[in-house]
Amino acid sequence: MSNLTFLRVSLPTPLRQAFDYRVPASIDNPVCIGLRVRVPFGPRKLIGVITEIDIQPDYDTAKIKPIIEIIDREPLLRSADLALLHWASNYYQHPLGEVIANALPSLLRKGAAAEPSRIMLWRAHTHASTAMLARAPRQAALLTHLQTRREGFTQEQLRDQPGDWRGALRQLEQRGLIESVAIATTPAADNVALTEPLRLSPDQQAAVDTIRQQPKGFSRHLLHGITGSGKTEVYLQVIQPLVEQHGQCLVLVPEISLTPQIVSRFRQRLSVPVCVLHSGLSDRERLNNWLLATSGKAKVIIGTRSAVFTPLPDLALIVVDEEHDLSLKQQDGFRYNARDIAVYRAQQNDIPIVLGSATPSLESLLNVEQGRYKLSHLPKRAGAAIPPSVQLLDVRSLPMRSGISEPLLHKITQIIARGEQVLLFLNRRGYAPVLMCHDCGWIANCGRCDARMTLHQSRRILACHHCGREVRIPKQCPECTTGKLHELGQGTERIEQTLVERFPATGIARIDRDTVRRQTDFTQLLERIHSGEIQLLVGTQMLAKGHDFPNVTLVALLDSDQGLFGSDFRAAERMAQLITQVSGRAGRGDKPGQVIIQTHHPEHPILQTLLTDGYSGFSHALLMERSAAALPPYTCQAMLRAESTDAAQPLAFLEQARNHAMQIQTGDVQLWGPVPAPMERRAGRYRAQLLLQAPQRAPLHQLLRSWVAQLETLPLSRKVRWSIDVDPMEML
Ligand code: ADP
Ligand code: ZN
Ligand code: ZN
Repeated sequence: MSNLTFLRVSLPTPLRQAFDYRVPASIDNPVCIGLRVRVPFGPRKLIGVITEIDIQPDYDTAKIKPIIEIIDREPLLRSADLALLHWASNYYQHPLGEVIANALPSLLRKGAAAEPSRIMLWRAHTHASTAMLARAPRQAALLTHLQTRREGFTQEQLRDQPGDWRGALRQLEQRGLIESVAIATTPAADNVALTEPLRLSPDQQAAVDTIRQQPKGFSRHLLHGITGSGKTEVYLQVIQPLVEQHGQCLVLVPEISLTPQIVSRFRQRLSVPVCVLHSGLSDRERLNNWLLATSGKAKVIIGTRSAVFTPLPDLALIVVDEEHDLSLKQQDGFRYNARDIAVYRAQQNDIPIVLGSATPSLESLLNVEQGRYKLSHLPKRAGAAIPPSVQLLDVRSLPMRSGISEPLLHKITQIIARGEQVLLFLNRRGYAPVLMCHDCGWIANCGRCDARMTLHQSRRILACHHCGREVRIPKQCPECTTGKLHELGQGTERIEQTLVERFPATGIARIDRDTVRRQTDFTQLLERIHSGEIQLLVGTQMLAKGHDFPNVTLVALLDSDQGLFGSDFRAAERMAQLITQVSGRAGRGDKPGQVIIQTHHPEHPILQTLLTDGYSGFSHALLMERSAAALPPYTCQAMLRAESTDAAQPLAFLEQARNHAMQIQTGDVQLWGPVPAPMERRAGRYRAQLLLQAPQRAPLHQLLRSWVAQLETLPLSRKVRWSIDVDPMEML
């Protein structure tokens, strides 16, 4: 009997502690850190990961329950992986058990074996003969077929057999003439023709050289390249020699399902296994790919934010593409920023990390300014493409057709006649954002949120985009019962309708979350766009990201005003990023592109600075403003949020939390609030927030460490739902 009798297990519970268990004598597998175990937890059974072994409990060991089973033979997480998760748990003040669970594919969380899926093969025994099957012709025929291939057939391969072949298969098995064997699936070979690396431009070459610099080890790079400047080519040429020396490269992208192009570019260039990890995969595919990555077989791992936690034994480089993108930040449950975790991980592994963007975040730009990140700049487009010309279109008092001005419609007509494509951008899906009664002024509100319902004409519903509530469109005004209901404003659905009426002979497509619900929808749409069948595209920010449509020569932003007056201090930054990214879709081929921005505020400083100085000049001015206002990235923030069906409790809880913080803190950390959230009621719950801000990270985190652990003990903590958000990206 070994002395490893007591061990500590992290379990996926909101409780901020690990739990001790005993290994019963009936289990004699070796025990080590990183294995999954099944344990009793109250009336339930939970799956957790061993984080400590050989512990010496200083309390009555008779009370310590035995584990039920050890699930793995090999540890799923090595000590470096656990160290990363520990760090993330501490930094984001989130319970370790949930952080660990978040890092594992869901099948592993549920207890599945950490093995690739197996397929069943049916094959004939060597001794089998049809001699005894004279009276069973169906079985005889099937057996003869099975005998044609020694290694056997999958059910899928037998599908075309005549009649009830499944029944015949069972009978043959009962007679002992055939057997089924399970074999592990082999990773789908990347059977694509490889393409040659492109000849790099001098700027690209300089970027590649800087990143590949000597001495080796931890280094942080910001690759600021305008849209179409060839950032992906830089990643590829940095990655190629690393994977040829058996290193692994992790490439984080914001939304892979929207940009399948990037994956095929990697597969076409690199002769090593490339695997993807994102939410569009089935649980089984995700586990298979995760195993390929963690075993070291996959050399390039392209994934969305949670892929940052994938254990990679030979990690040699991390790339974070579109590092400014909000989807790298998880906004619920375990709130983390995959970009920031990636930077920590690169340091931990002593390897380079490259953050790439056409519109870098102010955080990263400040890191360059302060010398922490090395900047590589790609100011020109790759190949023959030149940047588009950008023009503000003052729509004040212009005739408008549901959101599109006459001059713009005229322009669209010209482009279509030339056989080129147009992309219209509006960040609002649905038909109209407001439904109002013309007689009494009634407005369709959600009832569960402080928000209006959006009209969706084709589905004949009113939908709340905040809580998902859907109701039928009322036939008459529910308030005065006589008034006529009017749709105010426009969403993408209405724009599409206007376009169909105005350009009946032209191929038109709408791209937003209503039309693109599945990956296949999107792939089909992309094909129709690339074939030229579709000439007019209207869409939300789904269209802003990463796409390369060489024949799009006009991009129009239909309503840029909604972003100019946001309440969040990051509104201007986001607005500039969006305008720059959407504009970047124009003129990516050999024809010059043009961008038109419709606005009622052509003199607005955000638009003016962006147009005259570009994103670089704009972000520089914005950094000076942030510095003067002592806002991030010059200061650090954390947000405590609380919500409840009771209107008063969230604020009362935050008040208690605030008083508690005042008692333990030594100064330096400012507390702002509590205040109701900008949208106070959402899905029937009242929400409030308390903001913490400090000039340095250390005092903020010092306060968080003792404070957050004690929030659980506050009298109201069980009456509200609360959460902590370190480095919040949205002030919601
Ligand atoms: P980004 O990722 O910066 O938006 P991409 O890497 O997608 O840019 O490159 C834009 C286009 O330019 C792609 O079609 C790519 O094949 C092409 N390209 C990139 N680098 C070069 C180069 N050095 N020479 C010629 N074409 C290039
Ligand atoms: Zn009315
Ligand atoms: Zn709602």
